[in-house]
Amino acid sequence: MALLWRHYITDMDGTLQFIACSSLPLLLGIFSLLQLLFLSGLVEFYPVALLTENLEMASDSSTGNCLAWAARDKSGFLSPYTFNRRAVGKDDVSLKITHCGICYADVAFSREKLRKATYPLVPGHEIVGTVQEVGSEVQRFKVGDHVGVGTYVNSCRDCEYCNDELEIHCSNGIVSTINGLDVDGTMTKGGYSSFIVVHKRYCYKIPEGYPLSLAAPLLCAGITVYTPMIRHKMNQPGKSLGVVGLGGLGHLAVKFGKAFGLNVTVFSTSMTKKEEALDLLGADNFVVSSDDEQMKALVKSLDFIIDTASGDHPFDPYMSILKTAGTLVLVGAPSEIKLNPMNLHFRYENPQRKCNRWHKTDSRNAGLLQCPQNLPRG
Ligand SMILES: [Zn+2]
Ligand SMILES: [Zn+2]
Repeated sequence: MALLWRHYITDMDGTLQFIACSSLPLLLGIFSLLQLLFLSGLVEFYPVALLTENLEMASDSSTGNCLAWAARDKSGFLSPYTFNRRAVGKDDVSLKITHCGICYADVAFSREKLRKATYPLVPGHEIVGTVQEVGSEVQRFKVGDHVGVGTYVNSCRDCEYCNDELEIHCSNGIVSTINGLDVDGTMTKGGYSSFIVVHKRYCYKIPEGYPLSLAAPLLCAGITVYTPMIRHKMNQPGKSLGVVGLGGLGHLAVKFGKAFGLNVTVFSTSMTKKEEALDLLGADNFVVSSDDEQMKALVKSLDFIIDTASGDHPFDPYMSILKTAGTLVLVGAPSEIKLNPMNLHFRYENPQRKCNRWHKTDSRNAGLLQCPQNLPRG
């Protein structure tokens, strides 16, 4: 089963539904119930193909109450695995997993590219399903509810960030849904499994009627772009948004952008994504980022850019196409960021005057770098 740069919806009865997207969503915001409710009306996912691969949930061991797919070593190859989930505590929710997205973090965890892995490792952190049992202290959920679990399943619940509902930034560290230390001393195991038990705080209700298969990717890829878009007010109808990269994060950013009433331009390194961007996702414009002429034509034209690309790429060209005081949000994870600081301070490029060079100015503008054609005369 190919995992790289594709998003799947895994139907735990054995079918894999293949939807195109990708992500390395390590930068997560809080995924509140309200946000999920809001999201539910906005997003529509698009099946691109169906993998007909029939996956038998066979186990390699006769013990254990949970069936899963697990990586056994750094190859990341997944094979059937059986293990025991912990008993449901008074504050826990147990959910039968119906679907689970796959993002690049699952690949990275499985191949020990993010942190030291403890094998067998069960990936999966875009988890949705139905509640099958709740603890005695759980009031918010009942058996049969549609719920989801995202990238983390515990935090200290007592630090500045936890108290501010920013658990992902917990001062004492979150417990990842994959390969983290669970409360029973075992390593957490993710959503490529038949069920999961989590503390109620890290479980989110999904509105009835919202297809579970479509909800799963919101638990990681969706919230990764939605949170900064809301936080940085990228939801103002009529404004313009650039989306860099059209993988799992990017395609959701396009969908959110259109739902917010923005004029959306997709930037990609190749023309192969053009049809998908314009016809399937409804973007307004498509630009090949390596085409200097196309990029120059956009100088100072965009209010917002959300950069979802995880491959190394230049940032200055994107800074130049932002309007003055525009906003660029980085949610991808390139190996480094290189940026001319002047692109953060001052830009007076004027495309009409065909001047794209920087020049030191005279003493009247000491410290500034400006195109001399734009300096006041006299
Ligand atoms: Zn905390
Ligand atoms: Zn993810």
